[in-house]
Amino acid sequence: MADFEKSRQQVLAKITLATEAAGRPVGSCALLAVSKTFPASDVRACYATGQRAFGENYVQELLEKSAALADLPDIEWHFIGPLQSNKTRAVAEAAQWVHTVDRAKIGQRLSDQRPVDLPPLNVCVQVNVSGEESKSGCTLEEAPELAATVAALPRLKLRGLMCIPEPTEDRAKLLAQFRTLAALRERLIAAGYLLDTLSMGMSADLETAIAAGATMVRVGTALFGARSYPPNN
Ligand SMILES: *Cc1c(COP(=O)(O)O)cnc(C)c1O
Repeated sequence: MADFEKSRQQVLAKITLATEAAGRPVGSCALLAVSKTFPASDVRACYATGQRAFGENYVQELLEKSAALADLPDIEWHFIGPLQSNKTRAVAEAAQWVHTVDRAKIGQRLSDQRPVDLPPLNVCVQVNVSGEESKSGCTLEEAPELAATVAALPRLKLRGLMCIPEPTEDRAKLLAQFRTLAALRERLIAAGYLLDTLSMGMSADLETAIAAGATMVRVGTALFGARSYPPNN
């Protein structure tokens, strides 16, 4: 089995270094462990090292792993994949967070379907910061109205914004996209929203995301190793 203790400490050290380099307080950026494609046994082993927040992209995997690990009471499931409306109920029942609310209909359904015995579902509005046609996420222009809609839904708690930038090695380009999302958050905060979360940055670009203000980085490969089948987004 992989040495999750070692890989997790390495990622946490990277996060600490990057937050310090950005002049930000240590502890101001959380680690979301992206466990997609890896078995529940790996999640359990990573949990044993102290990790609590795990991210999944596929509804079926979220359901299987959250059921298999139901004995871990304080584990926290974050849904970070594209969400179709026929899958919202399962996610509203199994996750504590959804990072990928990109249209009002999805927010409405999640709120309607969130079980009454659970606390409100934490959500981020996903924004397409690169403007690529193929990318999921609302446009920058649509984001304020979508944030207002989500914030008004009774069973959702709007926590912040999420983005997946254009895949590029160009650090300046990445930084600009991350800063675009950070600036949008500042505008929404100025408009009165309590947004404590900027979900951005993955294994390859977490330092850049933290430099731009990420409060939660979503890390898969650097923790669990290379995936044996590719993500479909
Ligand atoms: C897979 C995935 C990640 C993790 O990516 P790595 O490069 O493996 O760290 C983060 N966010 C989303 C939305 C993903 O789909």
